[in-house]
Amino acid sequence: MPELALRAERLGKNFGGVRAVADLSIEIKRGEIHAVIGPNGAGKSTLINLLSGELAASAGEIRLGDAEITGLAPDKRARAGIGRAFQKTTIFPRFTVHENVRLAAQARSRAPLRMFGGASADPEVQSRTIEAIGKAGLAGREAIVANVLSHGEQRQLEIAMVLATGPSIILLDEPLAGMGQAEARGIIALIASLRAHHAVLIVEHDMDAVFELADKLTVMQDGQVIASGLPEDVRRHPAVRAAYLGN
Ligand code: ADP
Ligand code: MG
Repeated sequence: MPELALRAERLGKNFGGVRAVADLSIEIKRGEIHAVIGPNGAGKSTLINLLSGELAASAGEIRLGDAEITGLAPDKRARAGIGRAFQKTTIFPRFTVHENVRLAAQARSRAPLRMFGGASADPEVQSRTIEAIGKAGLAGREAIVANVLSHGEQRQLEIAMVLATGPSIILLDEPLAGMGQAEARGIIALIASLRAHHAVLIVEHDMDAVFELADKLTVMQDGQVIASGLPEDVRRHPAVRAAYLGN
């Protein structure tokens, strides 16, 4: 396994005349939580969408491990190992925790989708489902219907669904948004635990969470990287203090 989980080089994305991401290069190592911060409109979500394939790059190259994935559609990137948590949009609200995670596990296995009956007979899908539920801290909640889960538990379910696809890297866009302190604590601990088996790229506004979680920190402004490195070094960077941290 290569040490680099993902590398993007000289990525660009224009929306009409707007340069949302410009000449951006970033590397995420295996076992590393890499946080991306920057003011609203800096291009953070666009970067995540370029990496997951929701958006096609206007320029640049993306490599996942040793494989070039720049032109691949999102589903092919997911199979190749890019896991992306979508806030709620992928959860089936009337299905149980187990059913939701099993569907995600099946999507990876390429087996024909058999929602009822046959699906649970596939032992690999079953074991991946149980493992992902456990890692996301939802053991014991398997039979609960998704729409009665708390806000925090729904976020855990999204992460379980990503884990069930067997990703090498997990992309998280503001996973703590809309969360109270207590719920956020649980999600922060869950994200911290992901680095044992996955690379993580997280965009987050909560600076306390960022400095608690990040092994590496990249600051974006106007679609570009203005600083990148160890969090303590980046924090002291004059351009970062001026542009973002406000002092
Ligand atoms: P961030 O997530 O850092 O707040 P975004 O990546 O959402 O920033 O946006 C970066 C820039 O690109 C902004 O100027 C935004 O208005 C623009 N932008 C983002 N998505 C689109 C889109 N689908 N169409 C047009 N402009 C967009
Ligand atoms: Mg955003």
